[in-house]
Amino acid sequence: MNNYNYLKTKKLRELTELIIDISYNCNSKCRFCQWNITNSHETYLDLPLNQLLLSRENINSFNISRIVLSGGEPTLANNLLKIISYYKQFSLSIRLISNGISLTPKKVEKLSKLGIKEFVISINALDYDLYSMLHANTKKVFQRIIKNLKFLSNKHKNQSNIVLFLGLNVVLTRINCNWSTIYQFLTFSYKHNLSQLKFQPVFDDGYLSKNAPELALGYENVEDLREIISNLKTYSFKDQFTNSLTFWRDLKKFLKGKELSPLKCAVCKNTILLHNGLLKFCFWCQHIEYGSLFKSYNHTKVLKIQKDFKENLNKCKVLPQCFCLQPINHSWS
Ligand code: SF4
Ligand code: SF4
Repeated sequence: MNNYNYLKTKKLRELTELIIDISYNCNSKCRFCQWNITNSHETYLDLPLNQLLLSRENINSFNISRIVLSGGEPTLANNLLKIISYYKQFSLSIRLISNGISLTPKKVEKLSKLGIKEFVISINALDYDLYSMLHANTKKVFQRIIKNLKFLSNKHKNQSNIVLFLGLNVVLTRINCNWSTIYQFLTFSYKHNLSQLKFQPVFDDGYLSKNAPELALGYENVEDLREIISNLKTYSFKDQFTNSLTFWRDLKKFLKGKELSPLKCAVCKNTILLHNGLLKFCFWCQHIEYGSLFKSYNHTKVLKIQKDFKENLNKCKVLPQCFCLQPINHSWS
């Protein structure tokens, strides 16, 4: 397909992100995470390169508009440069989700030259006292992340040809889900001209309850959420800048013990996960997946699988992890 036709197709269809975990190595120590360097008892090898590259034909059939490199910590992937160079040929935007530890100015400039101009930093606190309760990293590591983040924001503000998009991902736990922390993130994001500030609840993949049960969100946070909602009502944000009020309301409902309906799950419209050579709707959906990356899909086949997925969504149960792949303005109600 020539470029013109490809662009034409992209405009006609809804845009979809392909999220690829490219390495399960990590250099951070988030207490709740399974990839935490001290939680894992084995060294995770890089994923084989051929399991990370989607064919041109399938990129088109799945209507992929952006590649999102995730992990673990994707900057540690040995194949990072090969992966970037492969996807760059399709003129797709490439976004990197990183803990920020190794995103030094030199690395950012290098990645940007290669084709990554969108960065999302995962950080769950902006002062070290709180940060150290969530991550077992030293103060020096925390300061390095903040320094790297400020460099990125400066580039984003003054040289958007180098950093086109800069976002933050914040995992909400029992101790940072409160208005004072949310307000700190909002003011930091405004001050540093960030593109997006996305919150998502912590979830338990076995490691949270084992290593940091005190960080689990619970009924105790309902009062915090009331305060957050009441304060956020007085602000207006530009579209897609941060989670909508419905996110906070849905989270409050969930923590009060109400069930959220899976029928509104939006993953099939926005994201496709490439995980261990399989194309999936999410990590947790048991009833359906697209299938092997090596198979050939046409767009009609993709739509058929998505239809089956939607018709069986009632088999899902909405859990905290279900929030993280939804679009920023998602509502479960
Ligand atoms: S949450 Fe991300 S940065 Fe933290 S340990 Fe896990 S993979 Fe690493
Ligand atoms: S498990 Fe959750 S995120 Fe995944 S498809 Fe079901 S409702 Fe959506």
